Amino acid sequence: MKYDCLLVGSGLYSGVIAYHMRKQGKKCLVLEKRNHMGGNVFCEKIEGINVHKYGAHIFHTSNKRVWEFVNSLAEFNRYTNSPVANYKGEIYNLPFNMNTFSRLWGIRTPQEAKSIIEKQRDDIKGEPENLEEQAISLVGRDIYEKLIKGYTEKQWGRECKDLPSFIIKRLPVRYTYDNNYFNDLYQGIPVGGYNVIINKLFEGCDVRLDTDYLEDKDTYDKLADMIVYTGSIDAYFNYCYGELEYRSVRFETEILDMDNYQGNAVVNYTDREIPYTRIIEHKHFEFGRDENGNELPKTVISREYSSEWKRGYEPYYPVNNEKNGALYKKYKELADRENGVIFGGRLAEYKYYDMDKVIESALCMVDRLNKEFKA
Ligand code: UDP
Repeated sequence: MKYDCLLVGSGLYSGVIAYHMRKQGKKCLVLEKRNHMGGNVFCEKIEGINVHKYGAHIFHTSNKRVWEFVNSLAEFNRYTNSPVANYKGEIYNLPFNMNTFSRLWGIRTPQEAKSIIEKQRDDIKGEPENLEEQAISLVGRDIYEKLIKGYTEKQWGRECKDLPSFIIKRLPVRYTYDNNYFNDLYQGIPVGGYNVIINKLFEGCDVRLDTDYLEDKDTYDKLADMIVYTGSIDAYFNYCYGELEYRSVRFETEILDMDNYQGNAVVNYTDREIPYTRIIEHKHFEFGRDENGNELPKTVISREYSSEWKRGYEPYYPVNNEKNGALYKKYKELADRENGVIFGGRLAEYKYYDMDKVIESALCMVDRLNKEFKA
């Protein structure tokens, strides 16, 4: 065997495993289908701005081990995500908090907001069974109609009634004037962009870009005893039980000859008519300045369009409904029987993981492997 470990894909899961393997002096080979490393956290420098090529990535976690780990790889800035929603030209703060309620209903106190929401959720009885019921029961009908329904249906291409309620539970609802989108203890963006982290994680590995493992699986399998597979689980098994559903995303990126387009990194367009879900203005992730602290004269924006995934597209989000859950279970059974292969990350575990959760899961795997090495 030429290598101790073959890593398929070069995102965070794969990177964390590679990093620890290298620390133990193991030889690693990385196969990456795209022409660059980093999976969906990859950044491209345009006009001095780190452009999040595959959508906004804001790091947040409450896990101290994960936070210390990523901080050992890069310095983090003080960025706090506070997206703004644009509903037919009306501007609201997200997540749903006193600023949103006050703007919407002209009220001032948490008691006033609670009493309106309570009235509006009246018709939802019992445990919410889908995203629509969950949303109305959390924030009432007005917010559901203006800030949730259109956005969610664009993002998922499905009616809110047909989506699982956990998706909306990702967002905090707060009766304080606090626009921080996340509840986590730690938050920020790596200074210099995510490539700084990716380069450190894969340092010392042999890398083959533009290489599709599944196209020549048998040959690559012979190169190492252990394989870490981070691609789609259904693709690995050649879709033998059929395709899992994913959502894909397409970006229209533009360089604008102005210094500030929308005054915020993330603006969500929550009505159904505007075809994109959000516009990202990348420079605001790093406060509009380059690494030397100089203000940047131009700006780069990306309009984000959501679509159903088809073969040949990039899969971004697993669609975690019942049908796909049952199908995934069948693939998982096959995966569990696959000797010497670790399936990890958003695509191989078919899970709507945030970055910190991917790292956490990879660190757990590292602990397991370390135990096995010692045994
Ligand atoms: N969401 C919404 N309106 C918004 C932002 C989010 O209804 O303006 C809902 C929507 O259902 C979305 C979910 O919250 O799918 C999760 O949003 P999040 O921002 O966590 O999604 P991500 O950044 O992972 O795409």
